[in-house]
Amino acid sequence: MRLLLKNAELFDGESDEGRKAHVLIDGERVEAVLTSRPEGYEGDELDLAGACLAPGFIDTHTHNDLYAVWPDNERYMRSFLRQGITTMIGGNCGFSTLGIDPATPYGGDLYAFFKHNPNYAEVTGFEGWAKAIDAHSPVNMACLCGHGTMRTALRGLGDKPLTAEELDRMERDLDAQLAAGAAGLSFGLMYNPSMYGEPAELERLARVVARHGKVLAYHTRANSKVSMAYPELLGRPHNLRAMDEVLDIAKKTGVRSHISHMIYVGRQTWKTLDKTIDLVDNANNKLGLDISFDIYPFDCGVSTINVILPVWYQSLSLADRKKRSARMRLAIEILATKQLLGFGYEDIQITWAGPDHREYIGRRVSDISAAAGEKPLDTYLRLIDEGGPDATVMMFTYMNEHIINKLSRHPAVHYMTDAWIVEDGVQNPAAFHTFPRLLRLSREGKAEKLGRMIRKMTGSAAERFGLADRGKVKPGYYADLVVFDRQKIAEGEGESSPIGLPHVIINGEFAVQNGEFKNNNLGRGIAVK
Ligand SMILES: [Zn+2]
Repeated sequence: MRLLLKNAELFDGESDEGRKAHVLIDGERVEAVLTSRPEGYEGDELDLAGACLAPGFIDTHTHNDLYAVWPDNERYMRSFLRQGITTMIGGNCGFSTLGIDPATPYGGDLYAFFKHNPNYAEVTGFEGWAKAIDAHSPVNMACLCGHGTMRTALRGLGDKPLTAEELDRMERDLDAQLAAGAAGLSFGLMYNPSMYGEPAELERLARVVARHGKVLAYHTRANSKVSMAYPELLGRPHNLRAMDEVLDIAKKTGVRSHISHMIYVGRQTWKTLDKTIDLVDNANNKLGLDISFDIYPFDCGVSTINVILPVWYQSLSLADRKKRSARMRLAIEILATKQLLGFGYEDIQITWAGPDHREYIGRRVSDISAAAGEKPLDTYLRLIDEGGPDATVMMFTYMNEHIINKLSRHPAVHYMTDAWIVEDGVQNPAAFHTFPRLLRLSREGKAEKLGRMIRKMTGSAAERFGLADRGKVKPGYYADLVVFDRQKIAEGEGESSPIGLPHVIINGEFAVQNGEFKNNNLGRGIAVK
């Protein structure tokens, strides 16, 4: 496409300030950024007087690599595209499409993730993956290798330590994927089996990433003041201990480190905000480390229904779970944790409880228990039994307005969705509204200033993850662009489209034009070099 975008207020992804400019797109790239109309230009043009033009937004944390490699994935990807996201970083929290030997004997454990995609074997190496993204994805994507995925492929789920041979193998596989174009590595230290990686294992892999100059992203061991990760309930808050671990790995290996989805589950955890910021600032400004993190502008997040249950309880048989002694111990532990966290059953919304229990969708556990005349814990355990392993919840008290405001202004922050579209039940609002909501909050003075926010959404995120030629409006860069009205931009209601965001251009073509979907297949797999 050859198109002149005229009279826009341009935020170019490099500067924090907007300026009046014309942008000429030729083919898939930006040809020129001009202060006046090019003489003799006779091609198509679009007058953007009164509107902002910016690089397409970069979602630094997605699990949509699992969807983007399938054919016919519009239903799962469109709401992200519609909010102006043109590039995503996939492979987070230790889970990735990349990095699996298709001949693994642990396919049963692993390919549950790929349950909708019959062609998983073709997308587990970087080249096959990039081809699948080129063929099917509506947005561009770079991908991390997931430690949990790689470990499962070698050793299955569970806490079995790797043999020296397996560790060598994992190191070699990671090295090969990074050389081929993977964006880095992700740890999922709250999830089986990444959580069982021994310190020496994590450190060795971090060194490989450091050697490639790429990013190591951490789903840390704890996001709350107390958690299931550490046995002592008192003493240093668990989320701070989990950050200590990140900083320790960064210090020992020099790896560029990215803390995924900084959240503060439970009202008591909110009090640790300043301490978490101090840890990042001290690491970056005094210790010479390179730490970044990402956030989203919501006070809730999706989790599995089991998430608040201690590990010992989850490992019991169904019959043993029903025993009085187990129930008593569980009741005491959950009560203590709730008090220490400042978190209750009113903060848990059921988003899916199995096909036979649609009546619970969207309701808080406290409401369901009150209506049934049950104790909330009994209700919760009943929903787990009735809903089965696929049941999910939306947990509240992840953040509050003050935390979002403060973190959104931090120099090391990026913005992300960490959301996916579910088959049924309540959708995560982040899948629809993240970037427009951030821009609205900015306008209302409740988040980072507009120019700086756009830079963090675009050029700064591209630099962080090594995306060359993207995230900026500059000659020679890919024409990934978004047009919005800074006075109107806002999230829509429910699952509707954002307000004041008419156009999204990916690789020089309209993906969304005047609010209509034009092309669902413009994304590219990005090789990070
Ligand atoms: Zn995560």
